[in-house]
Amino acid sequence: MLDQIYSYREMCDIENVQTLQRGMNFRMNPRYSVILMSRRSNAPYSDSISDDGITIEYEGHDEPKTSYEMNPKLLDQPQQTRNGTLTQNGKFIKAVEDFKNGISESEIVKVYEKILPGVWSLKGLFDLIDYNIKNDGKRNVFVFTLKLSDEQDLTTNEHIDLAHTRLIPSEVKKEVWKRDAGKCVLCGSTKNLHFDHDLPFSRGGTSLTTKNIRLLCAKCNLAKSDKIE
Ligand SMILES: [Zn+2]
Repeated sequence: MLDQIYSYREMCDIENVQTLQRGMNFRMNPRYSVILMSRRSNAPYSDSISDDGITIEYEGHDEPKTSYEMNPKLLDQPQQTRNGTLTQNGKFIKAVEDFKNGISESEIVKVYEKILPGVWSLKGLFDLIDYNIKNDGKRNVFVFTLKLSDEQDLTTNEHIDLAHTRLIPSEVKKEVWKRDAGKCVLCGSTKNLHFDHDLPFSRGGTSLTTKNIRLLCAKCNLAKSDKIE
């Protein structure tokens, strides 16, 4: 699947979205995030891939043009919006920190590179492993480091959040899936399902028994995490 070429339309169809506008798309899919990069001379960010295709340095995103009258290229890249929610930069940074602190596995990121207008090349699946803050002489920018992942198989079409469920033994997952009949336990949806820790893993909830694990759809999970935070 490495370096396959897709039209923009094909790429959107693969990712099951109408449009792909943003470069950074944290957890766009329950299983992975998507990054669109470009190394063309007129690209707005300076992203790079090592010659062996294994390491990517990806520049974080600027303050949206609409929110300030100043040139975004003169402003530090934002980690939060003014109302305190995480920007895409902030979400990717949190994923790096959770990974480094052993709270979660590295975030899996699918990377497409624009090679011509409307033509995209799939670079593969990468692990998001680090970020740095670089001063470009005018302001601070984030630089994310991604390494080609051992896992390159996204051919299966199960709607399961693999990146966040690796710690749950597969016996437990099978049992929970059966018990919850492949549906969100709150709303009955069969889309964007994943295994949820009823008591969060970060608060001591266990992965080892089915009692603390349930199926939730992305929407109900979002409502739940809003409540917790
Ligand atoms: Zn639901």
